[in-house]
Amino acid sequence: MDHFFVIHYNELGLKKGNRDYFENALCANIDTTVRDLGAERARRISGRVLLPLKADADTSEIKNRLGRVFGIAYFAEAWASPQAVENLEVNAWSLVEGRAFKSFRIDTRRGEKSFPLTSVEINQRVGAYVKERSQARVDLENAELTCWIEIVEKYALIYVERLPGPGGLPVGTSGKVVVLLSGGIDSPVAAWKMIKRGCTPVFVHFHSFPYTNKESQEKAKQIAQLLSAYSLRSKVYLVRFADVQRHIMVDTPLETRVILYRRYMMRLAEQIAWREKARVLVTGDSVGQVASQTIENIDVISRAVSMPILRPLIGDDKIEIVDLARRIGTYDISILPDQDCCSLFVPKHPETKANLLEIEKAEARLDVAETMKAALETAEVLLESPSYATGEVHKL
Ligand code: ATP
Ligand code: MG
Repeated sequence: MDHFFVIHYNELGLKKGNRDYFENALCANIDTTVRDLGAERARRISGRVLLPLKADADTSEIKNRLGRVFGIAYFAEAWASPQAVENLEVNAWSLVEGRAFKSFRIDTRRGEKSFPLTSVEINQRVGAYVKERSQARVDLENAELTCWIEIVEKYALIYVERLPGPGGLPVGTSGKVVVLLSGGIDSPVAAWKMIKRGCTPVFVHFHSFPYTNKESQEKAKQIAQLLSAYSLRSKVYLVRFADVQRHIMVDTPLETRVILYRRYMMRLAEQIAWREKARVLVTGDSVGQVASQTIENIDVISRAVSMPILRPLIGDDKIEIVDLARRIGTYDISILPDQDCCSLFVPKHPETKANLLEIEKAEARLDVAETMKAALETAEVLLESPSYATGEVHKL
């Protein structure tokens, strides 16, 4: 039998007019993700995507990678059968024969409603055939084995194993965002959540090299590369922040420095966003997690720029964030030791209730414009692609 992956997406929330756009983006993303594994081009058929396979396709790695393509609700490795019910009986049986099961059900969906039999009639015919040969009972609620039949175009697709996709929306359908990426645990998870909703990330990492070592930059690159298994590609700006910090520390009260650093990070990130035609900034802040993340500080930091700052982890507990970071795979990189730029030239007990007027007064004495310009001009810009594109396969 011919061999495919059948891929389903969540139709909920897809507006009629946008449907083509989402489906085409999903097909293009699937092609990019599995093109080296012996798959033909993905195509849309009656509310789902069909991925035809060549004889030598690496189906186990295709499964692995489809599990990371946002926009997929679930998918299955399926075999094609002619649509005549006699063929469905024989082919369904050949797929389940040899498996151990005491109860089963047949679940038919018709993508083509013109088909002469109803779904229920097909279930009954194929169910009776399998029952007779397997001696198993039919159980519609708690079957040990489900055999799905999807009637589409000129075939029926038959499969017995449904795998979950990661949900979300196809990457690239929601526009570009600039993510402030530290070497920590939180910001990679924040980025992942935005990618999940279809956004293309541009990462900005600030470092204090040569006052610190290069580890944080290395981590940011590795995290961006790992996340590109989801985002398909990502751009990374490595921005030298040390000179900006040196300017800030000349004439400002010690306890305000973290706030000032953050405000300048926002300003630099906003300029990169304009250049990249991105519309929002994204951070990994969660209320109250550390001193710089009190509501007062979030307020004062946000007012440095006019661009909206999205904080997808704002209401999450650390334990939830760590759990997600582990599942995504970024956790192990995030916990590697590094020297965070924000710990440079700052006090043990930073400001927790920043006052906008005071901060603005401190900033008024600073002349950082030239330094900021230099920081942007000397930023190193890299393109990261998924590890499989560079030969090493990252398995989740
Ligand atoms: P994270 O785990 O993401 O580092 P955190 O809990 O350590 O977050 P902070 O260090 O206060 O909290 O950082 C808050 C947010 O500010 C980060 O999630 C990130 O978006 C941004 N940020 C902090 N440091 C940097 C940096 N060096 N480069 C880019 N963004 C940064
Ligand atoms: Mg941090």
